[in-house]
Amino acid sequence: MSKPLTAAQLQELKTLLEQRKAEIEGRLHEVRDGQTRAEHAREIIQTRGSVERQHSSDREVDLALSDRGEVELTRVEAALARIEAGAYGQCDECGCHIPFERLKLEPPTQHCVACKSRWEKNAGVVPDSNM
Ligand SMILES: [Zn+2]
Repeated sequence: MSKPLTAAQLQELKTLLEQRKAEIEGRLHEVRDGQTRAEHAREIIQTRGSVERQHSSDREVDLALSDRGEVELTRVEAALARIEAGAYGQCDECGCHIPFERLKLEPPTQHCVACKSRWEKNAGVVPDSNM
């Protein structure tokens, strides 16, 4: 069983999360530059299977990156909200304190290693997929 985070550790993790948030927002902005998501999706549908195959798959990668970024951004924002609420650093599943070392590697995580590996074993579904 780990100890709760100290104020200094919490502050460090908050800084990490804020940096990550800024980074993702910058990346999302780049991906979308000059093109809305709807236009982007339509273009993929139109070009799929056509002579523009290579072009199309490049765009799909862009879109996938952007989707992934959004998922991550949501997680980072949720983690920041948990810090504000004083609930950060505790496992969503079992309520234990997640070790600082783990949080530092993966600040948006909401689950301890034990719960996470149980999930991977049982369901094959990983709710927080970055680790
Ligand atoms: Zn747990």
